[in-house]
Amino acid sequence: MIPAPWAGVAENDPSTALPVEVAVSVRGLARRYPGSDRAAVDGISLDLHAGEVVALLGPSGCGKSTTLRLIAGYERADAGEVWIGGTCAATAARPLNGGTPQWIPPEHRGVGMVFQDYALFPHLTVAGNVSFGLRHAAPAARDARVAALLATVGLADLAGRHPHQLSGGQQQRVALARALAPRPRAILLDEPFNTLDASLRAQVRRDLLDILSSEGVAVLMVTHDQDEAFACATRVAVMHRGRIMQSGSPATLYNRPTNRFVAGFGGDGLFLPVAVRGGRLVFPGGWPVPSLPVADPGAWTHAGDATLLVRPEEVAIEPDSSGDAVVGEGRPRGPDVEYDVRPRGAPHGNLLLRAHFHAWLAPGTPVSVSLALRHLVLFAGDRAVASLCLTAACTCH
Ligand code: ADP
Repeated sequence: MIPAPWAGVAENDPSTALPVEVAVSVRGLARRYPGSDRAAVDGISLDLHAGEVVALLGPSGCGKSTTLRLIAGYERADAGEVWIGGTCAATAARPLNGGTPQWIPPEHRGVGMVFQDYALFPHLTVAGNVSFGLRHAAPAARDARVAALLATVGLADLAGRHPHQLSGGQQQRVALARALAPRPRAILLDEPFNTLDASLRAQVRRDLLDILSSEGVAVLMVTHDQDEAFACATRVAVMHRGRIMQSGSPATLYNRPTNRFVAGFGGDGLFLPVAVRGGRLVFPGGWPVPSLPVADPGAWTHAGDATLLVRPEEVAIEPDSSGDAVVGEGRPRGPDVEYDVRPRGAPHGNLLLRAHFHAWLAPGTPVSVSLALRHLVLFAGDRAVASLCLTAACTCH
């Protein structure tokens, strides 16, 4: 097997060596659909290692599914390369560097794809669907693999049923078993939990990740749901307009976003205007507090106007009849209630916070507000100019 030129190197940095083998590597992938005025995928580079779950997270239309289809071989890139297990699986039909075009068809790439609608063969039974990718294997080996996979996904009793006789969750497990059957290096999951009821999702998610982990396969999933991405993946790449804006652990993306898009897409929060002056963050109009000391001023150089990211858990309120703010309508969110808090009579923006359900506050309740920042993330324009952990125990970086 010919090693990829960048096998074992870090994403976007060909000079940094990593001691791990890469299952899938894409470099500079780009795809513009005919008639479209901009690229659906615009220069994506990403490595996927064996046993790792990576999520592509982004809003609808940002190019997530196209990226999966380029890797699986259902689309061809206009530029860039797809390497699978050290073999070049695809280049553009006319590579920009003038090299020899490469193309391995989807069924020979060693990549399994689970589609949003599962795309099961309706005329085949569960066992028939799972054995589809093994039709060239010896019958005994094929039957043993199908039986083992159906046991793994908990469908051994339903081997003779047809897809229309299964629930959505069961169909998804058949699709997964079918994709896993030929022992691919990587599994690509397109919005895997989209069609499932909210009540089923958490359990199905755990089951699916357990199955994938037991097979030791690399997983790339796409989702528009931040909760889903953060719950499933060890590494998340946030996409916007065909590009990866930031890639990192959920903790890094949530706590240390490098740009405002990632800060907003990676979780709830508000951007408050501040001025960095005289060693303090000064809030215009003294809201929600007059000022805060600047943390570790040696770590960053920005001075002047900026925007501060404040996550809901960094705001605290106390009912206080002489407080200078009031709460708005409460919105239940799991064990918490989310409130907007607005200053009394002042034209400044609302704050967003979450408080425990046991202390429901009626709209209009006067409160005093305090900020307890856990991370200091300051933006100038779209770009983060300071990004610091403020708690000693933080493991986000
Ligand atoms: P996502 O998966 O993030 O929702 P897609 O990769 O499906 O995004 O789509 C990215 C962009 O490409 C969108 O603007 C979409 O309308 C466009 N697109 C997707 N598939 C096609 C196609 N077959 N032909 C033309 N445009 C497409």
